[in-house]
Amino acid sequence: MARPEKIQSLIDAHEGKLPEHSGLGHYSVMYLCKDGGVICAKCANENLKLTDDPDDPQWYITDIVSEFENPIDCDNCYEEVPVLWKVKPIKENPNG
Ligand SMILES: [Zn+2]
Repeated sequence: MARPEKIQSLIDAHEGKLPEHSGLGHYSVMYLCKDGGVICAKCANENLKLTDDPDDPQWYITDIVSEFENPIDCDNCYEEVPVLWKVKPIKENPNG
């Protein structure tokens, strides 16, 4: 494995995938590649093998980008990633 430890531990903590949002506050996250591009979690997961190869700077993920202030377009699919994802309604505690 040649990923930065920070990225690898994220994958390990999310059943082998890169998370689409941060655990706290459901902020969207994106992934910074070695060439300076930023890709969305969907593209990152679809090309997970490529993100492990430092010789492929377009895909090799060096860092996570979170809590950005304005929507960012993915450099791969060009889809705009909103600042916040639709937050699922929290189920009320049936015992509470
Ligand atoms: Zn994308």
